[in-house]
Amino acid sequence: MQESKTQKKTIEEASAILKKLPMKLQVETVLLLESYGRIAAEDIRAAVSVPAFPKSAYDGYAVRAEDLKNATEQIPVRLKITETLAAGAVAKQPVLNGMAARIMTGAMLPEGADTIIMQEKVLHEGEYAVFSEKEAQGANVVAIGEDVLEGTILLKKGEVLTPAAVGSLAAQGFTEVIVYKRPTVAVLCTGNELLEVGEALIPGKIYSSNGALLKGYLLQYGVKPNLYGTVADEKEALANALKKAMEENDMVITTGGVSVGEFDYMAETLEQLGADILFHRLAFKPGGAMLAARFKDKLILGLSGNPGACAVGLLYVGLPYLRKLCGEKTPELLKETALLKEEYKKTRKGMRILRGHAAIENGTLVFYPISNQRNGAISSMASCNALAELTEGEEPLRQGTQIPVLLL
Ligand code: AMP
Ligand code: MG
Repeated sequence: MQESKTQKKTIEEASAILKKLPMKLQVETVLLLESYGRIAAEDIRAAVSVPAFPKSAYDGYAVRAEDLKNATEQIPVRLKITETLAAGAVAKQPVLNGMAARIMTGAMLPEGADTIIMQEKVLHEGEYAVFSEKEAQGANVVAIGEDVLEGTILLKKGEVLTPAAVGSLAAQGFTEVIVYKRPTVAVLCTGNELLEVGEALIPGKIYSSNGALLKGYLLQYGVKPNLYGTVADEKEALANALKKAMEENDMVITTGGVSVGEFDYMAETLEQLGADILFHRLAFKPGGAMLAARFKDKLILGLSGNPGACAVGLLYVGLPYLRKLCGEKTPELLKETALLKEEYKKTRKGMRILRGHAAIENGTLVFYPISNQRNGAISSMASCNALAELTEGEEPLRQGTQIPVLLL
């Protein structure tokens, strides 16, 4: 379905279109210790309970609670020490009536013992341990499965392998994990004015910064970026570069050439290559001058060339798709309400996305807009970790206004 270039879709409409696109994800097995930040490609269940045996939570004495039921300071109870159990050891003998085993943190409880008394509460007298108070049965014992019971799901398909998740899989003795392959995403910058870093700067030209900018975000969100450098605003060169990028990657991101200028050939070229334009130009600023197209089973996201707008287009529109392409179960960004910390004068009626820094101050989520919100600006964006959505309307937004923000 081709569509008119003048009709602007809303972000909701654009998101709905991207959300519906089917995608085939590939999986691979990686070493557990290489899996940080990856996404589980299947539910992972515990093969063993952790711990798999009852163990001592403290350095102390393993006893039968029954034996200490009458222990008081006036009439302490003396128990014969059977042996000393280090972590990792297995008791040679059971703890019978009148006996106690010296036991260290993490050591398996000897048969017969049901309770641990911390050593700080015990007097050690040669072959005897002297107890002057009782403890509830089971006290200070780490029960079987206290952390994980065999068979429970440790990680669901689509969840991130955080450090704690990797740790809990290591506790199972797992050495490998099945994850989604990282999708490869081409980044292609277009514009006659663009120079690659390392080239001599000449009048009228600028260094391309979008490749460097986008690569960073793609890495941050778990994608494998492939930079394809710059291509001029020439239809044939553009068509060739797009074809190559589409063949070699799971998705293509371009910058530049999606606006209404004389040399903005992106949409036209994609159509000529046989791609479907899913939308072109969205109703928000900055970055609404963007398109999405589908070629076979691949998405092409055509972002604005203006670095600020390009960043917003990627983060605001493209990110959920990218995260879904990585296999994430919940690819949407968190949306919260924050307190606007500086007045913002809207100069246009339409929807505007503010880049800013979100933080917690006195228990409240606050949002500081970055100082330069212009399309071309990224230098003040270094601290940007949130996008605020300012809906239709022209009135200035006062400091203290509650606004919706997306946390990046
Ligand atoms: P365009 O989207 O092609 O109309 O470009 C909009 C503005 O962004 C122009 O001022 C371009 O010079 C600038 N621009 C385009 N591509 C890049 C790039 N890769 N790096 C930095 N600026 C760019
Ligand atoms: Mg251009």
